[in-house]
Amino acid sequence: MHMKLLRAIIMGPPGSGKGTISTRIIKDFPMKHLSSGDVLRSQMLNKTPAGLAAKTYIDQGHLVPDKLILTLISNQLKKLKGKSWLLDGFPRTLPQSEALYKLEPVDLVVNLNVPFEIIIDRIKGRWTHAPSGRIYHTEFNPPKVPGKDDATGEPLIQREDDKEETVCKRLENYQKMTQPVLNFYREHHLLEEFTGKYSNEIWPKVHQFLSTKIEPLQYTEYS
Ligand code: AMP
Repeated sequence: MHMKLLRAIIMGPPGSGKGTISTRIIKDFPMKHLSSGDVLRSQMLNKTPAGLAAKTYIDQGHLVPDKLILTLISNQLKKLKGKSWLLDGFPRTLPQSEALYKLEPVDLVVNLNVPFEIIIDRIKGRWTHAPSGRIYHTEFNPPKVPGKDDATGEPLIQREDDKEETVCKRLENYQKMTQPVLNFYREHHLLEEFTGKYSNEIWPKVHQFLSTKIEPLQYTEYS
């Protein structure tokens, strides 16, 4: 049975392909994308009081305080009254999920369950040519000469963000923080898990599932 409105959340660890899947959802279903990161970046760009307050946290790599992000998101959700939406990047903490629960009904939570080993393998293979920003991958897009930029022959470096140790730490932090959020939605029977290694493997399952909840914009067949 299709719902008139679908209020959904998408969750997934960094590197899980959440951006790719969100983009495809928005393309195929009549839903508005609401990304907390985008909302914050736009506030910072416009130098609003909220944006200026958020900047100090974000620059230090911290989450912004629950109250701040909650105010921003609830303002955005008010504008989306009567529309279907897909929340991305929010809620990130248990207090945020509890507050959202009181504020707006949530119909379902899509969780992308990509094995951590796969994410680590994928990211740690990335090598960058720092001056140009060109990115290579030892497996998927290797340079012609190992360790050298194709155009200039200059050495490639591994960005701090792409080092195995950094990726592991990021994933651990994500897990620690979001486990209570996932449990919260599991207890409310709203959590729908999609397991797979690649976006192209996960996407048909997400599409199929969402099609049972909300009418797609047009019919697409996935084999
Ligand atoms: P993102 O683009 O989702 O990675 O968000 C960029 C930054 O904005 C994060 O690193 C956090 O500092 C902040 N942020 C985004 N969403 C939230 C949230 N739900 N709670 C707290 N901080 C957030």
